[in-house]
Amino acid sequence: MSEIYDRQKIQDDIQKNDVILDAFSKIVSGKSNYRTVIEKKKIPLRCRKCALSLDSDRPPKFCPECGTKVWVKPVKCPKCSKGLFAEDKFCQECGENLEAPPLA
Ligand SMILES: [Zn+2]
Ligand SMILES: [Zn+2]
Repeated sequence: MSEIYDRQKIQDDIQKNDVILDAFSKIVSGKSNYRTVIEKKKIPLRCRKCALSLDSDRPPKFCPECGTKVWVKPVKCPKCSKGLFAEDKFCQECGENLEAPPLA
């Protein structure tokens, strides 16, 4: 039962984020459909070591140029599964550090 409850909670959180994003989009643009533009905007993915451009849709696990492990920011908190905003450095729910781990 608890697993079902958790999924419901995650769904609720995602919906809450949607509402916030909608409200924010209206403030920024004066239009409620501005959000689609935000969602289409791609965050460029680059190697953290050599800055090689990588495919953000299907990122490789390791940089083909220098072999550094590619780190992609999660869209959900790895600890509590709360939905995240791209600019979040820490999870707003549990404080999990969302920054890239240091290069080995
Ligand atoms: Zn590289
Ligand atoms: Zn969290």
